Amino acid sequence: MTVSVGIIGATGAVGQRLIQLLAPNPEFEVEAVTASEDSAGKSYREAAKWRIDTPIPDEVAEMEVAPTDPESVPDDVQLVFSSLPSSVGEAVEPAFCEAGYVVSSNSSNARRDDDVPLTIPEINPDHLDLIEVQRDERGWDGALVKNPNCSTITMVPPLAAIDEEASLERVEVATLQAVSGAGYSGVSSMEIIDNAIPHIGKEEAKMETESRKLLGTFDGAAVHWHDVDVAASCNRIPTIDGHLENVWADTVEDVSPSAAADAMDAYPSLDLPSSPDQLIEVFEEPDRPQPRLDRTLGDGMTVSAGGIQETPSGLQFNCLAHNTLRGAAGASVLNGELLLENGYL
Ligand code: NAP
Repeated sequence: MTVSVGIIGATGAVGQRLIQLLAPNPEFEVEAVTASEDSAGKSYREAAKWRIDTPIPDEVAEMEVAPTDPESVPDDVQLVFSSLPSSVGEAVEPAFCEAGYVVSSNSSNARRDDDVPLTIPEINPDHLDLIEVQRDERGWDGALVKNPNCSTITMVPPLAAIDEEASLERVEVATLQAVSGAGYSGVSSMEIIDNAIPHIGKEEAKMETESRKLLGTFDGAAVHWHDVDVAASCNRIPTIDGHLENVWADTVEDVSPSAAADAMDAYPSLDLPSSPDQLIEVFEEPDRPQPRLDRTLGDGMTVSAGGIQETPSGLQFNCLAHNTLRGAAGASVLNGELLLENGYL
């Protein structure tokens, strides 16, 4: 028996990935797709400028795109994946939760709210139970669960492995982020071809705060953020998909590069349909991971790391994840699978 799901903001970069990933998913069946007023009333094929290198799944192509409000989504839909711009998500997602839908969202609104679980299922699955606190406080029958920003998802799994081994004290990170991270209309070709842009609005702050919430501990009532200091510098580069990051991690206890590599390699994955067999792929070659070569490891759900070495600023490593798969749509689907496994659907 599959769970009926909807996608709000279904026509954009992340929405298309959600459509692609959900078509073969054994647990979920897409029953509703929504987008802006400009797209509402059109068939999905007509509304979405499909830019993925597999065809639009037949069962969605002729589906009518609905306006993005709870009344346009059938009642038997239990789970709604949200890939709306955050300004729209902020207004619309609570209305869906109030109407009884469980929302698994990519948008950055509410990620730092005290009663909203921010989850990477392999890293902090226990934080999902913050839903009980949320329902008590907000009186919702539904629930709101967030996955982190794509650049944060890339570095947190290797950092979690190091934290378990030697306790993180300070993290510095410089990113090289793909253009798909800004959505289809995010960066113009005239800006990015033959160029690199050393600033991505609000991205640094997201990395600095979301990573501390994800690595924090949940005591049944609240999440206590990790006290690690995180400093981020974010850069846009002309790759299509895959965020590469250079990370320096200073730890309380000593940890050798080989012990850190072993901890990353051994960090467990989960037995959910979208979890990769290997959560973190560790490369010995100093020039890996690379976006074009390594972003589709584990069907785009594996995070890769390499170049692990000691430096005066602590342990240094490079890491990479596919930003619209592991960093967005795949992360939401995985949270949906965790919600199902934990009895929230
Ligand atoms: P996008 O390509 O711009 O797509 C936005 C979607 O929202 C489209 O379906 C659009 O519909 C819809 N929409 C826009 N305004 C709306 C409105 N007023 N009412 C209803 N629907 C509206 O953006 P994206 O890159 O997919 O990102 C979606 C969200 O995921 C954002 O919050 C982003 O920050 C987050 N995110 C993105 C990535 C990434 O790698 N791209 C990673 C992590 C998180 P129309 O087609 O009708 O305009």
